[in-house]
Amino acid sequence: MIQFMILGAGPGLPMLDLHLSSVYVNSGGKNILFDCGGGTSHQLLKYQMTKDYLDAIVISHYHPDHVSGLLMVLQMLYLEGRTKPLQLFLPERPAAFMDVLHLFYTFEKRFPYELHVLPVDEIDLYFEDVVAAMTDHLSGYENYIREHQLLNQMKSFSFRIGTPENSLVYTSDLSDVQCIGALIEGCNTVIIDALHPPATSVLSLPDYNVQRIILTHGMSAQLSQMLAEHPDPRFEHAVEGKVYSL
Ligand SMILES: [Zn+2]
Repeated sequence: MIQFMILGAGPGLPMLDLHLSSVYVNSGGKNILFDCGGGTSHQLLKYQMTKDYLDAIVISHYHPDHVSGLLMVLQMLYLEGRTKPLQLFLPERPAAFMDVLHLFYTFEKRFPYELHVLPVDEIDLYFEDVVAAMTDHLSGYENYIREHQLLNQMKSFSFRIGTPENSLVYTSDLSDVQCIGALIEGCNTVIIDALHPPATSVLSLPDYNVQRIILTHGMSAQLSQMLAEHPDPRFEHAVEGKVYSL
């Protein structure tokens, strides 16, 4: 069985009634946090997922609404006296992230726990029931990155968790559902970014034999209007703090 809880269902523009992106998943006896937007440490406190509770933190991409809470979570675990090693899966340039950590006087060698920084695209080597697939979410930056000779690698990932018969997909942010069609096909539940992809793309999810579609990260006006005109029980709005099972 897989259980999950959406800790943050808000979009990149902060909203008073929603938290920034974060999804907790329990699968195969492991507790994994996908994304860590600002305020995630408070959500972890609220739902008693602190200290040694989490096995791994996985960051889908480096937009602030998905990673801005990470420094505070690492500091919280340090101050709580965590002792269990923590696996931190990062989408790109782990050494640059460690420089950021050190910039903020947060030194992993002084943590009471071991911090293992690993590449997201190798997560299946550590968790046999999790696979990552790269998406097109950041590809629009290509010209800007080239023009300004930046080091950004435009890596953004979606994840499938579970077995082929019973699995959950967390898309994180997407430009189009098509780019992860193979990942989504036949899964039980998809937690999808309902803001960025065109409404027709989100509404095509049942074509991939998905049973339940949970809309998160806010919602585009177009999708909201289309669902109001043609209600479909397979689509539901994310509820923060609810325990979902599959
Ligand atoms: Zn986002």
